[in-house]
Amino acid sequence: MSHHIFRRLLPRPVAVDLGTANTLIYMHGKGIVLNQPSVVCFQKTPSPGAGRVAAVGEEAKQLLGRSPTNLEAIRPMRHGVIADFAAAEHMFREFVEMARLRSVFGLRAEFTICVPCSATQVERRAIREAALAAGAAKVSLIDESLAAAVGAGLPVGEARGSMVVDMGGGTTEVAVVSLGGVAYQGFVRIGGDQFDAAIVSYVRSLYGVVLGDQTAEHVKKTIGSATLDVPTERARAIGRSLVDGLPRTIELSNHDVAEALAAPLRPVVDAIKLALENAPPELVTDIAHSGMVLTGGGALLANLDKRLAEETGLAVRVAHEPLTCAVRGASAAASCVDAASFG
Ligand code: ADP
Ligand code: MG
Repeated sequence: MSHHIFRRLLPRPVAVDLGTANTLIYMHGKGIVLNQPSVVCFQKTPSPGAGRVAAVGEEAKQLLGRSPTNLEAIRPMRHGVIADFAAAEHMFREFVEMARLRSVFGLRAEFTICVPCSATQVERRAIREAALAAGAAKVSLIDESLAAAVGAGLPVGEARGSMVVDMGGGTTEVAVVSLGGVAYQGFVRIGGDQFDAAIVSYVRSLYGVVLGDQTAEHVKKTIGSATLDVPTERARAIGRSLVDGLPRTIELSNHDVAEALAAPLRPVVDAIKLALENAPPELVTDIAHSGMVLTGGGALLANLDKRLAEETGLAVRVAHEPLTCAVRGASAAASCVDAASFG
């Protein structure tokens, strides 16, 4: 009884997915309390590193590639890990403020944070330190693939192999999970950012027009496809002409976009095939029955499921709400561990 009253006064534990593209915070018993692009914008000052935060999240993303000279918009995460520590720390602190995680008495919450399997010890320490600086009382790290698998509803606790492919902004992680752990992990440094870049370079060489990254992302989301055999669809995009430097509107077809995406998709397909060749045979047999699940924003690329099914011969399913799988799973996994250790 008293235990319950005590717990009510404590801040609720939170799970954090500090992704290359998006940061999400999930409060236990409450749900998602923050979902913002991982972007922070600083006011430039003569002394480097002393800049004040001018905007964060959605507002800062609007300023990427179009910020005035006194502002600088930064994406502190690259390929799933912190690339700019000072910027990451500022961004994290702002997000924690926005999410109002502290209890009525201002007590700090415990954080469970997703980290990619590929993160080094130094990178893990950087995440921990950024979280402590942002106001975490205690930090635990959880394998992002495992969290994504839990969030996708896979039977991770069973003695049965499940495959999860998490495609984020700058990485794709392929994992085989079983008995609450990760039995095989592989990754490639290819995600949504590399798709956007492929569209930019394709349009540049085909039309002599340079698109901005956000325009390319928009094109990808509206008419992108992981397969070429799709009924024609078109979308307009405005870029800068290489000939005269003036704005030019071009009409792109989904076939153009699919062709542009073919190159960065290849290594993703190869990583999945490699996983099937190298994961323990019994688990691969399980996967042959159960198929694989796609999570992360990349799972929303049209026909990615179809393409991967064709390439592997397996059943492929896109998880429900793929963008939030990792943070939901991290929260669920953390509360399981809590329940187990407190009886
Ligand atoms: P991260 O975990 O690295 O922050 P997310 O899982 O949040 O990444 O996914 C973000 C990526 O998903 C971005 O590159 C974004 O462009 C991409 N994405 C989001 N929606 C779609 C869509 N409908 N089609 C293709 N890609 C998408
Ligand atoms: Mg992610």
